[in-house]
Amino acid sequence: MIIFLDLKKINNRFRNEIDSRIAKILDKGWYLQGEENEIFSKNFAAFCQTKYTLGVANGLDALNLIIKASGFGVGDEIIVPANTYIATILAISQNGCTPVLVEPDINTYNINPDLIEAKITPKTKAIMVVHLYGQAVQMQKIWDLAKKYNLKVFEDSAQAHGAYYKDKRVGNLSDASAFSFYPGKNLGCMGDGGAITTNDEELYKKIKAIANYGSDRKYHHIYKGVNSRLDEIQAAILDIKLKYLDEDNQKRREIAKYYRENIKNKKIILPKTCDEKAHVWHVFAVRTENRDEFQEYLKNNGIQTIIHYPTPPHKQGAYKEWNNLSYPVTEEIHNTIVSLPISPVMEQDEISRVVEVVNDF
Ligand SMILES: *Cc1c(COP(=O)(O)O)cnc(C)c1O
Repeated sequence: MIIFLDLKKINNRFRNEIDSRIAKILDKGWYLQGEENEIFSKNFAAFCQTKYTLGVANGLDALNLIIKASGFGVGDEIIVPANTYIATILAISQNGCTPVLVEPDINTYNINPDLIEAKITPKTKAIMVVHLYGQAVQMQKIWDLAKKYNLKVFEDSAQAHGAYYKDKRVGNLSDASAFSFYPGKNLGCMGDGGAITTNDEELYKKIKAIANYGSDRKYHHIYKGVNSRLDEIQAAILDIKLKYLDEDNQKRREIAKYYRENIKNKKIILPKTCDEKAHVWHVFAVRTENRDEFQEYLKNNGIQTIIHYPTPPHKQGAYKEWNNLSYPVTEEIHNTIVSLPISPVMEQDEISRVVEVVNDF
């Protein structure tokens, strides 16, 4: 069986480094808000080319904290792609804001910048872009709109650690960016984890305080904050894996290139990219009219696939008020998409086998 993502194999490459770093934490007996967070924050900020990084408990918290610290709430609208993972939309709702859904571009699967302006109202406060499947959003039009209408721009970078837009890294393309380190992400820990990157010192300080019970110094609470921390063990694991992230992403690019050059089946629509460096191929999503049949056929031939995602947010029970709305591009994507295995530990014989089986479909 070619499994979709062999996490054990991915992480066991770093076994020795992880063992000794965790042993150091045990020796020290310091588990939260310590040296490991300091080191990882510094290194992740440098990686993303940003001034600040704050480790938090997960990606959803990172999104939530950015919106909360920006002061947005009831009555405020935030623009977001209709085909994102539901977390992006939940973070907007959980702050009392109204998510305003915009259709993606069928070619990139990212928000269609040409459809944003029509959705801007006097209540619009921000555009939340999502670098979906590992591909950075083409930001220029979004920056232009933000300037024209005085909006904030935020990034959901949970699927795109290390991707670029032109010569800038994801995480450094907006006022603040949210990352998730869920185990299956391109940079994943061994539990839950997340981070926020920003160049805005004031926003950083506010997010840091809110994430720590609203406290800017011990027992002094200036906001009604939350508790959202990245623990020391996760920070240490992430700091080790960060060193290999560019290399791992390059491996993903090579697999994607191989798939794109060698999959030749008229029934399969391959993903497109605007720029090779823009993409870190968190998932390799193809489309086909006979998705269920295709998935079953791959399974019978020993290839595991996953659908990212079978049901769009506006068709979910959590958003009943939207269930009758129509977002045809989003629906087309959700009805036809399926992700092939891609990971830094896939062997050439596995990659070739995927191509062979897909071509025979
Ligand atoms: C994974 C993911 C999140 C949420 O991250 P968690 O760490 O699971 O909370 C948010 N947005 C997108 C696009 C994701 O893929």
